[in-house]
Amino acid sequence: MSPASAVVDLAPAPLRVIGQDVPVPLADGRSVPYANLDYAASAPCLETVRAAIDAALPYYSSVHRGAGHASQVTTDRYERARDTVRAFVGAWRRDAVVFTRNTTDAMNLLAHALPQGTTVVVFESEHHATLLPWQRGGRVVRLPAPVSPSAAVAAADEALASAPAGPRLLVVTAASNVTGELWPVAELARVAREHGARVAVDAAQLVPHRPLDMTALDVDYVAFSGHKLYAPFGAGCLVGRADWLRAAEPYLFGGGATASVGDQVVWATDPEARHEAGTPNVLGVVALAAACEALTDWDTLIAEEERLLARLRTGLAAIPGVRELSLWGDLSPRVGIVSFVVDGRSARDVATELSEKYGIGLRDGKFCAHPFLRRLLGEGAGGCDDGDGTALRASFGIGTTDRHIDRLLTALRRIGH
Ligand code: PLP
Repeated sequence: MSPASAVVDLAPAPLRVIGQDVPVPLADGRSVPYANLDYAASAPCLETVRAAIDAALPYYSSVHRGAGHASQVTTDRYERARDTVRAFVGAWRRDAVVFTRNTTDAMNLLAHALPQGTTVVVFESEHHATLLPWQRGGRVVRLPAPVSPSAAVAAADEALASAPAGPRLLVVTAASNVTGELWPVAELARVAREHGARVAVDAAQLVPHRPLDMTALDVDYVAFSGHKLYAPFGAGCLVGRADWLRAAEPYLFGGGATASVGDQVVWATDPEARHEAGTPNVLGVVALAAACEALTDWDTLIAEEERLLARLRTGLAAIPGVRELSLWGDLSPRVGIVSFVVDGRSARDVATELSEKYGIGLRDGKFCAHPFLRRLLGEGAGGCDDGDGTALRASFGIGTTDRHIDRLLTALRRIGH
């Protein structure tokens, strides 16, 4: 063996997404490679995730109740996915991992499991999935979007200090789906602890961009979705303390959630079985776990994302009439999500033009965060011609290159004039 062939390359293989440059038609009949800048809505699927689904398909069979070999293999894959997710978010070994449809479902499950009389403290800047479920019960304290990260901590401190006796839950999104800004989760968790409160983190936009360690952050619950994490749609999870979940009525009544059924129903006490009635989304969960396993080389991912983010933000700032939306300016780091408005143009018109003339896909609208958009754009002032209070959002991640960012900047320069 030559010395050269003895060298083993331990560098992780680069991650590839499916479909970033797929050909798309323009209004004039030409076709161009798609520039997908809409990762925050749903990220493209990773090649390694597709490989995991392909590997699972030959054994695709019923979970939990089948005696056949394929059922056992599938059950084993499904159950092992819980350990993968637990490790991915740095949960405690004893934490429950309940598979859900998505983050919205996970937050609703947690809202459903709140003990009577819980006070929930939540910021108005949340995505609706994390803002609204608490209205089902309990006392909700809605805090205005804070002027700085330290103001967020002070506001949570004050709200929790004046909460009535009883269980308390502070809910916070780790990375904003509108501005990409990172929230001071560790500091918020520290003040929550001082008031005996638990902390639930919406990590839907954090986990595709940053590692998460629930134990180090000292948070109790985390929710996220597979489809924002480079897996296909349909599976998400709630990870966290088992006691409230064990005590709550099953989320759905049906098969799998029961220990025995006669005149009386005895429900399963294990939180996973109790809240996952019905046949689960096995392939969705296999895909979710494969995505968690793929995201390990964070230093490389973060360095590349920050480089692209700087390129995008600098480019946007240089285009007359384009204004980036931000809650805290540069007081907080952010992930690869940037919202902006183009003066004198409705967001819908710009998004349509970007798609039809340039083959660029991004999101326009209010991003399921209506109170937050109102706050960022100014109450009553849409920031757009038609005053409809909408904006554009470019978001990116693995597979995005300078070329995609530059295509957006070039198109916006043309559109702006
Ligand atoms: N939370 C945040 C921060 C989000 O960005 C989203 C989706 O955009 C959600 C929750 C809801 O995710 P899902 O639609 O997968 O339930």
